[in-house]
Amino acid sequence: MTAFAFPPAPPTALAVRGRSERFPVHRIYCVGRNFADHAREMGAEAPKGNPVFFMKPADAAWPSPDIPYPGATADLHHEVELVVALGPDVPDTLTAENAGRAVFAYAVGVDLTRRDLQAEAKDKRLPWDTAKGFDASAPIGELVPAAEAVLDDATALRLHINGELRQQAPLGDMIFSVTDILVALSGLYRLRPGDLIFMGTPAGVAALQRGDRLEAELDGITAYRGQII
Ligand code: MN
Repeated sequence: MTAFAFPPAPPTALAVRGRSERFPVHRIYCVGRNFADHAREMGAEAPKGNPVFFMKPADAAWPSPDIPYPGATADLHHEVELVVALGPDVPDTLTAENAGRAVFAYAVGVDLTRRDLQAEAKDKRLPWDTAKGFDASAPIGELVPAAEAVLDDATALRLHINGELRQQAPLGDMIFSVTDILVALSGLYRLRPGDLIFMGTPAGVAALQRGDRLEAELDGITAYRGQII
């Protein structure tokens, strides 16, 4: 057994519906600009060639209902997203034919964004890390095993803030499908069991304040409920 100089941090572990075992998070990949209406509201073109990717640290995954308002921002934005969770059967190279085998579960999550830092980074052509990859920046609900979650183009992604509908779109509005994204990611990284992929957000992103209540849903399948503290 390996001896460590100090105890290593345990993996971030997420609840899986119907199972006592938890899902150990390996990495978090995120897709930018995967809905044309959101790309437009951010003043960007919808991508035509390769998808836009960025990452968050694994321990940014945040199943707790209490979301701490982060430092270093005055413009924390919500982005509701479909989350794809990869399981033990991830092929070494994913293709359109085998990518489905990699999918273990689905969830709904919120890609929290320090929009002011992102705007500054975009202006200066700098990376997005401080805007996207901060502590607790990826609130996420219960994982639903893929076999029990029937997703189609009409399945709605939805976010209410304090009971008011802020974001809503069918999954069919995604520019790149789950298969498209898995194949593209596999060309850039070795995908592993425990990886999460945040699939991008539709239009309607806006600022959150302390005390705001979030209710994110993947219609009829799973939800995340939390509050900014
Ligand atoms: Mn996003």
